[in-house]
Amino acid sequence: MTSSISEAKKNTKYCSVCGNLTDIDPCSICSDTGRDPKTICVVESPRDVAAMERIKDYRGLYHVLHGSISPMEGIGPDDINLKSLVIRLQGTDTEELILATNPNIEGEATAMYIARLLKPSGIKVSRIAHGIPVGGDLEYADEITLLKAMEGRHQL
Ligand SMILES: [Zn+2]
Repeated sequence: MTSSISEAKKNTKYCSVCGNLTDIDPCSICSDTGRDPKTICVVESPRDVAAMERIKDYRGLYHVLHGSISPMEGIGPDDINLKSLVIRLQGTDTEELILATNPNIEGEATAMYIARLLKPSGIKVSRIAHGIPVGGDLEYADEITLLKAMEGRHQL
């Protein structure tokens, strides 16, 4: 039992496209041709991808930042998986980027930074609504709350 767990861990890597945890690269979401490549949902962690996947409504792709911008902790834009998103967007016909970072100071700062960064690109950048309590964590939001937050998203 123990050996199979460590075996699984060893085979787990980050998807080179979206940064999600996966055992195959690109991950099963990125390589799923049934999904809508025109929409990318930006989240902070692979756990948030799992949370979003629980609401079966979302059929777009993801980009995992592996953190959020936190000037207080000295974490800047270069310290998260953001550069790869910019490069990724250059090669695609993405129409909408949904910023689903957590509704706390760091998550908001990250969303604002990305919105400003991508303004010249012409890609529609939207932010999920505040159905999730401020200071809350996307990961622990229930499906209804998450679905409402997605439906109520507004353009930045
Ligand atoms: Zn992927």
